[in-house]
Amino acid sequence: MTSSARPLLNRRLAEFGTTIFAEMSALALRTGSINLGQGFPDTDGPEEIREAAVRALRDGRGNQYPPGPGVPELRTAITAHQERRYGLSYDPDAEVLVTAGATEAIAAALLALVEPGDEVIAFEPYYDSYAACIAMAGGTRVPVTLRPADGSFRLDLDELRAAVTDRTRLLLINTPHNPTGTVLTREELTAIAELAVERDLLVITDEVYEHLVFDAAEHIPLATFPGMRGRTVSIGSAGKTFSFTGWKVGWVTGTPDLVTAVRSAKQFLTYVASGPFQYAVAEALSLPDSYFDAFRADMLAKRDVLATGLTEAGFEVFRPAGTYFVTTDIRPLGPDLSQNGDGFAFCRALPELAGVVAIPNAVFYDHREAGAPFVRFAFCKRVSVLEEAVGRLKKLAG
Ligand SMILES: *Cc1c(COP(=O)(O)O)cnc(C)c1O
Repeated sequence: MTSSARPLLNRRLAEFGTTIFAEMSALALRTGSINLGQGFPDTDGPEEIREAAVRALRDGRGNQYPPGPGVPELRTAITAHQERRYGLSYDPDAEVLVTAGATEAIAAALLALVEPGDEVIAFEPYYDSYAACIAMAGGTRVPVTLRPADGSFRLDLDELRAAVTDRTRLLLINTPHNPTGTVLTREELTAIAELAVERDLLVITDEVYEHLVFDAAEHIPLATFPGMRGRTVSIGSAGKTFSFTGWKVGWVTGTPDLVTAVRSAKQFLTYVASGPFQYAVAEALSLPDSYFDAFRADMLAKRDVLATGLTEAGFEVFRPAGTYFVTTDIRPLGPDLSQNGDGFAFCRALPELAGVVAIPNAVFYDHREAGAPFVRFAFCKRVSVLEEAVGRLKKLAG
C-alpha cells in the first residue's frame, strides 16, 4: 500500500505525466484518422541497410553487449561522415559515444552536465523530451521563444542574450528545429557561438535533422564555429536520416572530456543498445551523397504537397526550411472551425471533423498562450496519404 498523502510520481516529473502523442495516437486509431501527429515515416529506410542489419544478426555481430562507447565500425563511420560533410575532425576512440537514439544522448548529456539549480536555456517551442530531462537533472529551464515573423519562426538574439544569467550552465540548441522547421542561419549561429564563448557556456546541439534542409537553407554544425568545438556536445541520430526510427541509434561527438562526462551518465541508463543495428548504421552513414540527395528531394516534394494543400485548405502555413514538420496557424480558418484559435481544442475535434490527426504546438511551450493557435502536421508519409489528408482538410474548409 502507498500513502494517499503522497502522489506516486515525484515532483520533478509531475507535470510530464502523459504525452500528447499517446492521446492523439489513440484518437487516430479510434476514429480511423490519418495520423500526421507523430513524426515517423510510413516507409522504411533503404533495403540494403535492412539487409546489413540482418547480416549482422546472422553473423553474430552485436547480439551480445557491444562495447560501451559503440562498435568501432560505427564510431569510425560517424567521424568520417562529420569530416566528409563539415570538415569536422573527431577521434573515433575518444570523441564519439553511441547512444540509444538522440533521446538518450539528450538525457545523458543533461544528467551529466547540469548541477541542480543550474539554468538551461532552450528555444520554445521545444522538443518534448528537453523539459523533462532538464527537470530530471534538477535544472531550471529558461525558454527563449521563437516568434512568427514573415512566414517563419525567428530567434530574437537580444532576448537570448538577456536570458543568460550567472546561473546559466548551458544552451540547448536545436537546428533544424522541431516543430517550427526553422534552420538557424550562419549569422544567428555566429551570434550564439559568440555568446557561449563570452559567457563561458556549454552547448548541447541537437542536429538530428541535419540532412533535412530545403531551398536555400544550409545546415551548419555549431561545433564548426570559433571557440565552439571545446564546449559543444553535438547530437545526431540515424532515426530521421535513414527512416529507421525504431532502431534507436544515436550519437554524441565532442572533446574527450565532454564525451567522458556524457558517458558517465549514459553507462547507467541503457549501458549499451541496438547491437546489430549499429553495424547497419555504420554502412548507412557511408552511403554515397546520392542517397542523402534523393532523401532530401523526396521529403521536399512531400513538404510541398502538404504545405500547399494546407494553404489551400485555409491554414496559414509556415513553410519549413528543415525537418519533416509543418507548423500552421489555424486562426484564418475562422473562429468556429479554429475553436477560437485554440490549437488543443482544434486537434481534439479534428479527427471527428476531418479524419486527420495533428499536434497542438502549445504542448511544446511553457508560455502556452504563445503557442495556442499553432498546430503541427508531419509530412514524412507517402504522397498518397498526404494527398488524402489534404483532400479531407479542404472539404472541412470548403
Ligand atoms: C526525433 C527527435 C529526437 C529523437 O531522436 P531518436 O534518435 O529517435 O531518439 C531528438 N530530437 C529531435 C528534435 C527530434 O525530432
